[in-house]
Amino acid sequence: MRTLDRVRIERATTNDIEGIAQTYVDSARHHRDLDPALYQVPALEDVVRDLAQHWDGSDQATFVARVDGTGVGSVDVRLVRPRTEASMVKPRMVAGIGIAILGPYHRQGIGHRLMEAAEQWSRSQGAETMTLDCHGGNTTAISFYRSLGYHTTGLLMRKGLEATDAPDNRGPDHPGAVHVRQSSIGNDFYCQQVLTGRLPVKKMYETERVLAFHHTRPAYPVCLVVIPRTHVPSLVDLGAEGDDLLLDLLTVVRKIAAEVESEYGACWVVTNRGRYQDSKHLHWHVISGNRLA
Ligand SMILES: [Zn+2]
Repeated sequence: MRTLDRVRIERATTNDIEGIAQTYVDSARHHRDLDPALYQVPALEDVVRDLAQHWDGSDQATFVARVDGTGVGSVDVRLVRPRTEASMVKPRMVAGIGIAILGPYHRQGIGHRLMEAAEQWSRSQGAETMTLDCHGGNTTAISFYRSLGYHTTGLLMRKGLEATDAPDNRGPDHPGAVHVRQSSIGNDFYCQQVLTGRLPVKKMYETERVLAFHHTRPAYPVCLVVIPRTHVPSLVDLGAEGDDLLLDLLTVVRKIAAEVESEYGACWVVTNRGRYQDSKHLHWHVISGNRLA
């Protein structure tokens, strides 16, 4: 029997708090990998305490997905009542949601069922709109929400107020040492700047899983970057992705290398690791020409 046929979606009770906390911690790991500057993995007991404290029932509902009686995911919905007439936003009741599902139960339709329950409840409470926020680099989540009819209406803007940027460092003079300016909020330039669309790039080629574009601060006359759209730490650490993503990436790298070679006669194909890897998101450089001063 398919997992989805064994799933029951039910309104959570305080007995579910511990199980829900576990899904939050699990999901927090995924977020932390996506953007360590923004997310952390909380202690289970802290999540349990926090959930218990905010479990008031009015204007809030939590639904759990159970497979054979065991909680594997949850969705939390909170109503935001319209503000006064003075607001320039048209008054309407909005429901904000947060969803978490244990890793092994992803991509089986459970999220879909939980979202359905959350929307149905919100509608019954008079809400007219659902909202959620999602990290711009979380491409899997974004396409899931899009498939359910959610669309982007704004940008969540953020500015870190910690230390100022370190001076730009061009680094060692070896092929592929194409340094990007690091912001003070972390070291994943691709998830934070490129995949979120914050930094517009000139795309050269793209597939469902791979993006190739012109380097925004090229250190060589020809400098192309190929990255996976999902977060992959490096060539050595493929994170949650398998070898098949590597094949997709290299298919694009090969295509681009062939184009550069036919146009410029030669190229380097490089990916860096360890201290040579500036941005901790797997990227390949296809480079040609002499290093720019
Ligand atoms: Zn990344």
